Amino acid sequence: MDYLKGLNEPQLEAVTTLQGPLMVLAGAGSGKTRVLTMRIAHLITNGVDPFNILSLTFTNKAAKEMKERIAKLVGDSNARSLWMGTFHSVFARILRSEGHHLGYPSNFTIYDMQDALNVMKKVIKDMNIDSEIYKAKKVLSRISQYKNNLITVNAYFNNPDLMEADEKANMRLMGDIYRKYVEACFKNGAMDFDDLLLKTNELLTRFPEVLAKYQDRFRYILVDEYQDTNHSQYLIVKALASKFENICVVGDDAQSIYSFRGANIHNILNFKKDYPDAVTVSLEQNYRSTQNIVDAANVVISKNLQQFKKNVFSENEIGDKIKVYRSLSDADEANFVSANIFELHNTQQRHFSDFAILYRTNSQTRAFEDALRKKNIPYKVYGGLSFYQRKEVKDLLAYLRILVNENDSEALSRIINYPARGIGETTQNKLVVFADSQNVPVAQVLDNLGFYAPQLGLNNGVLTKLGDFWAMIKAFQVMLKTENVYDVAMEVAKRSGLIKFLKEDATPEGISRVENIQELLNSMQGFIEEQIQIEGGDPSLSNFMENIALSADTQTDKEDDGDKVSLMTIHLSKGLEFPVVHLVGLEENLFPSFMSSSTREELEEERRLFYVALTRAEKQVFFTYAVSRFQWGKITDAEPSRFLSEIDDKYVEMINPVTELKFINRSGINSNIFDDTPSEPRFFKKKEEKKTIERNVNTPVPKQLKPIATARIINPSGSSSEDIQVGDNV
Ligand code: ATP
Ligand code: MG
Repeated sequence: MDYLKGLNEPQLEAVTTLQGPLMVLAGAGSGKTRVLTMRIAHLITNGVDPFNILSLTFTNKAAKEMKERIAKLVGDSNARSLWMGTFHSVFARILRSEGHHLGYPSNFTIYDMQDALNVMKKVIKDMNIDSEIYKAKKVLSRISQYKNNLITVNAYFNNPDLMEADEKANMRLMGDIYRKYVEACFKNGAMDFDDLLLKTNELLTRFPEVLAKYQDRFRYILVDEYQDTNHSQYLIVKALASKFENICVVGDDAQSIYSFRGANIHNILNFKKDYPDAVTVSLEQNYRSTQNIVDAANVVISKNLQQFKKNVFSENEIGDKIKVYRSLSDADEANFVSANIFELHNTQQRHFSDFAILYRTNSQTRAFEDALRKKNIPYKVYGGLSFYQRKEVKDLLAYLRILVNENDSEALSRIINYPARGIGETTQNKLVVFADSQNVPVAQVLDNLGFYAPQLGLNNGVLTKLGDFWAMIKAFQVMLKTENVYDVAMEVAKRSGLIKFLKEDATPEGISRVENIQELLNSMQGFIEEQIQIEGGDPSLSNFMENIALSADTQTDKEDDGDKVSLMTIHLSKGLEFPVVHLVGLEENLFPSFMSSSTREELEEERRLFYVALTRAEKQVFFTYAVSRFQWGKITDAEPSRFLSEIDDKYVEMINPVTELKFINRSGINSNIFDDTPSEPRFFKKKEEKKTIERNVNTPVPKQLKPIATARIINPSGSSSEDIQVGDNV
């Protein structure tokens, strides 16, 4: 039992208390996950059959890592028999063998979001109701909320408050839609993600013999990241554990960051109420990070009112101060980060896998991907595809591909009815079959629709829709002859209905899709500027498309983790650790997000998110923010995030101290946009003078792009100065 030697006293207590309810409530990096791992090994060493152990993790990745560690301690075969995985994966497995009680076949389909949407659209259509009021995405996200709170269709109709709320929201038919949707899924033998939890609850409540069977099997239950369980998950765990009460949960209320998905922080706070005999262990020593990082994180989280006070300390080295880089633009920020990684890789012999770039929203990825690629630094984007492979990005690109090459049938089939415009599959099939029979490309048939119409066998309504669609494509092509790539792409995004369609989804995922489109447009603007500046540059759409196609090839997304820089949202970084963390985009309205800074609760969740990000780091942290960011075709000013000013000066230092930054505008008149006086040495406490540099989206980019502004950085000593152009690397 060598593994027990490396544990501190409270950790040892948690690992060796094998019977009864146990809660470990402790700060980041204090060894909670390590305790869980060791505890499982210890259970097995003490004769518990791994088959009787259920361990629930937040991500599949975490489950995999934990299993590997356990295998090292107690052998492969033991580790293999463990029940370990996410709530969804474990309970899908149980439903496969028990779902027949509820009338589901064992090979039931699991619907992803897109499948669910298709079903919902059909329901709405069949009900013949206004799909503008009852938008499929909106309706589905309401249903998801019901399901995660165990509100079944029957429960819904027995809940006057809910019905009244939907009535007030002008969605009187929600209950009927809910019923029809559930019926449709059931008829298809399918469950959506929320069903996996809802149906497990139903199974365990309605069939006591099934509950008894799994209570007997899962004699030992362990849950990591307990603070982020939702009500449905909480009830499953409670039911399963109620016989033996060998339940161990570990978590940190300060890291609860999923309330928007229904996570309920009270689950952890109420553990003592549910199990009055529970042993609670708190861990105070952080083994992950330097003292400086731990102290800074403590200061930030102490600003939250809603939290358990915890004492977290580190006995590691004091370590470097957190370095803050103030960049002029988002591109500058990305260039700094990639240059910094490059340098630390060379000078400190760091592996690329030692680095993480953490951001608030997925749409921030693109600039970093571009900057890393330029320096040939290998990277991996977690949680999703590489930027250019994301569906919404590919959809817009498919429109642009058609503009470049009408005969690209793959792109055509992707967008001909996306967003939906009434050109269904039957029509598309007829079109393709007919074009084949005439031995001409589909585009040619569309070009001569009037001529071919009698032979196509399509009714007038459909012909009109096809005609309208093709006229729109033609109009874009004409526009491309005179306008720049960015303007055309913006027009495509708008007129095709793509943006409008994506905006209907107000979930965080939906918002990030819209932001990704915005980012793609931004990248075009950057491309144009780049091409205009280089000799013989070619700012055409086909060149843009070619660049993307080539760069997508170099970024093959194989599943090897290898020696790569990790890029991910803070949400995804939970539980992980990296020697060097770059936390980027630290600006008001970005982080904290503009969506989440109106109430104290929301702001506290953003602050917890900040705490999670900071505590991922072992040795070094870099914060970056930009004073202006490209959004929706214009450069807008950004203010440093309030979280920056919440950390005491003693923990941070500015990398690029700027005492005076002068803008020389085109008329040659100097204007101070930055007024840092020695009496107020902190760069971000001072509100910066608003100055927005806008470019009218509708005017073509000038042939010769003039620098928008020149800034002069004067060293503090005043001995030397350097001119830089906004948008250039500093
Ligand atoms: P988080 O809240 O971020 O999930 P955590 O509490 O789960 O963090 P772990 O990931 O288990 O913390 O541990 C953080 C780091 O500290 C890991 O690298 C772990 O191996 C190390 N560690 C934990 N306990 C000890 C110990 N007693 N001795 C040495 N290293 C330890
Ligand atoms: Mg952990």
